[in-house]
Amino acid sequence: AKMVYYFGQTKTEGKGKAKALLGGKGLNLAEMTSIGLPVPPGFTITTEVCDGYYKNGEKLPAGLMDEIQKAVVTLEEELDKKFGDDDNPLLVSVRSGAAVSMPGMMNTILNLGLNDVSTEGLAKATKNERFAYDAYRRLINMYGDVVKGLAHHDFEVAFDKVKKKYKVTEDTEVPAEGLKELCEAYKAVYKKGTGEDFPQDPVFQLQLAVEAVFGSWNADRAISYRRIESAKGNTEIGNLIGTAVNVQAMVYGNMGDDSGTGVGFTRDPNTGQNKFYGEFLINAQGEDVVAGIRTPSPVSEMGKWDKAAHKELMEIKKTLETHYKEMQDIEFTIEKGKLFMLQTRTGKRNGIAAVKIACDMVKEGLITEKDAVLRVPASDLTHCLLPSFKPTARNAADVLCRGLNASPGAAVGKLAFTAHDARERFELGENVILVRRETSPEDVEGMSAAVGILTSTGGATSHAAVVARGWGKCCVAGASDVEINEKAKTIVVNGRKFTAKDTISLDGTTGEVMAGEVETQEPKLSGDFAKLMVWADKYRTMGIRTNADSPADAKRARAFGAEGIGLCRTEHMFFEADRIIHIRAMILADAEDDRRAALKKLLPFQRKDFEGIFKAMAGCPVTVRLLDPPLHEFLPHEAAAQKEMAAELGVKPAEIKKRSEALHESNPMLGHRGCRLSVTYPEILEMQVQAIVEASINCAKKKIDAQPEIMIPLVGTAAELRILREKVEETIAKTVAAKKFEGKLNILIGTMIEIPRACLTANEVAEYADFFSFGTNDLTQMTFGYSRDDVGGFLPDYIEHKIVPVDPFQSLDQTGVGQLVDMGVAKGRSVKGKLKVGICGEHGGDPASIDFCNRAGLDYVSCSPFRVPIARLAAAQAAL
Ligand code: ADP
Ligand code: MG
Ligand code: MG
Repeated sequence: AKMVYYFGQTKTEGKGKAKALLGGKGLNLAEMTSIGLPVPPGFTITTEVCDGYYKNGEKLPAGLMDEIQKAVVTLEEELDKKFGDDDNPLLVSVRSGAAVSMPGMMNTILNLGLNDVSTEGLAKATKNERFAYDAYRRLINMYGDVVKGLAHHDFEVAFDKVKKKYKVTEDTEVPAEGLKELCEAYKAVYKKGTGEDFPQDPVFQLQLAVEAVFGSWNADRAISYRRIESAKGNTEIGNLIGTAVNVQAMVYGNMGDDSGTGVGFTRDPNTGQNKFYGEFLINAQGEDVVAGIRTPSPVSEMGKWDKAAHKELMEIKKTLETHYKEMQDIEFTIEKGKLFMLQTRTGKRNGIAAVKIACDMVKEGLITEKDAVLRVPASDLTHCLLPSFKPTARNAADVLCRGLNASPGAAVGKLAFTAHDARERFELGENVILVRRETSPEDVEGMSAAVGILTSTGGATSHAAVVARGWGKCCVAGASDVEINEKAKTIVVNGRKFTAKDTISLDGTTGEVMAGEVETQEPKLSGDFAKLMVWADKYRTMGIRTNADSPADAKRARAFGAEGIGLCRTEHMFFEADRIIHIRAMILADAEDDRRAALKKLLPFQRKDFEGIFKAMAGCPVTVRLLDPPLHEFLPHEAAAQKEMAAELGVKPAEIKKRSEALHESNPMLGHRGCRLSVTYPEILEMQVQAIVEASINCAKKKIDAQPEIMIPLVGTAAELRILREKVEETIAKTVAAKKFEGKLNILIGTMIEIPRACLTANEVAEYADFFSFGTNDLTQMTFGYSRDDVGGFLPDYIEHKIVPVDPFQSLDQTGVGQLVDMGVAKGRSVKGKLKVGICGEHGGDPASIDFCNRAGLDYVSCSPFRVPIARLAAAQAAL
């Protein structure tokens, strides 16, 4: 297969090829070239070559260097310069680029092709000695770092020495003479670190650089980033075969004060505002902006420096957005007043910006409503649902200083000074804020564990800012008043000291850092967010319900757009202090009469709960699941608590211990629970059904439209449902008669499908069910045979070894568990054509699972209140 694709004026071979083949960077370089934007020419080595490199025992495939040589010749002809020329050499950058962008994960080498002789030549040809040696020192540094793994620190020490000698602080102030000395010093660092001289053969440099880019694909930090992203449900990143390599002719932003380099977004990635958002540095090359070497200036001020270049950049913004119909994240360089585009890709943005940009682009006629619905990643809506600080608390807050508002949100936590510490304390359940001078790719594990990130240097496009934004995590960057002492684990802000024990609050929306805990509040759901939701509702065909056990949750979910409750877990109501005593008394009772007496005391509580929930969900269905967990969960296990309980109930502690032991099961989740409880103790079912019916009658009397659906859990055979359905119907009739209720109650009776056997025999089960609701948590547990509560021990290894692509408890296993769902639906509806079928459990809020549910023909999904908007959007995306 073809291994190298050229882009330039001569030809653009990569145009319209797959991103998977050329990587995002390579494909977009070809695309920008083809729409006439000023892009330095070059060529892309495919991701397949990277795959081959690994399959080949980390060796470049045969013939690759020949293909590369041919492309180099084309490049030489196009630019009228020669690679390896002594006088006016063609220099290139070697850049990585996978199909999914991984910020800062892979390494780039600039100015490749220089050596001792050609640096002289370059100096003469450009009449700019300072520039030539600046380029050379960068090459030795980057090549040493990327290809040979030399510590950046050793180079830095050498640089500091030279700066001291010339009594300057900025890189740009070092004169040509100093940079010449620096190159010698760098070569010494290189020799000391590698035992070899810095290679003088450009083709050799090129080959090793290509191998190094391939090598960086499997660097720890790259693997780590991919793992974290996969765990977040990014399945695309797990399927990549490797990175492409882009070899591109250099353009120079370091030729003097008429040159520079910059990065930016065509719209504000924080707010979505249609305003170019970026930074630039004069007389700088490549990574200087991102690495925070000097403080860059905002692009809004670029016009003062170079009006024409700024104007051209703004025109390019338009061209790019019209072409891609998307907000772009770009890199550009200005060489002696001439603007070049070096990269473009879809810009990362948080959910708030995503919603605004989508709505604005509809208004601007760039995209349609449907595009807008499809474009906003459903899970990113969480950013719109993020808490913010309470204005009153915010006004009263003790503001310490202000940094850049790098990624919005409100974060409150204790200080952590290393990524490792952040991770460890997160695992112990602590909310921490990671404080770093600046973050690097090595910090990603800690960044993902922290509730917020604070850095003291670095700009709006620094590593911390980019990663945090991608994750929707609150980040304040470049807060230069924060003096960090990593060793002592303290920060000092304007004379005030804080330690790892202190709590601070970060406002990612304003960039402010505040002392102590500032109170937060729930978000508002209006404006563009509401508009997008209206569009989503227009296109989705599935209903969206919520899992809620209290009127408060029900109300919140309704405000988020829930159209009913898909799962109301009754046992949660039993744990409150005034109730648990009765359920414990019931469990202790030996005789049915005593059990009934205890249950009678629970009845008013249940009735009241249901009334509240029915009222909050008036006019919408509420699926109430009858008692599900094994009884021993309601008993205390510690001796002290058992003693307390004994005193409360007036029995001997030994009795409690005995009962608790008697209820002990080896596999409680496969034990005496769910419908099995109702078979043994029908009085529990009777009490619950009575409470539901009485609550419905009370609602009816108040003209509240209650629509209960009684759900019997853990059914595996039709007989279970037949017997229990009879019991439920009997109890309904009895209660209605006792209450002398004349009106009409519309109560459905159905079952949770969560045991594989229920799926296999769904045609039998359906005879006794008015509805099915797939309980995919248990169904996954029982299909895989993974104990839900114990997967922590092995699942991370399974994901790492790709035995399972993602956690099957987070995203439904469509190939395995999915077949059971499909079968359950088909068999159920073969008996009852209109059987109502839904899903409850964690999967109901996961976009990929929602897409599956849509294909499986489910009537609705049910998820936690906060995921309802996500589910609405995901359901629309599934339908489109
Ligand atoms: P990353 O993926 O880390 O951004 P890039 O390959 O995009 O790495 O390059 C790093 C920096 O070097 C960027 O600022 C980019 O614009 C710059 N750069 C890359 N290639 C060239 C080139 N041919 N000429 C000038 N600058 C370049
Ligand atoms: Mg880049
Ligand atoms: Mg279950």
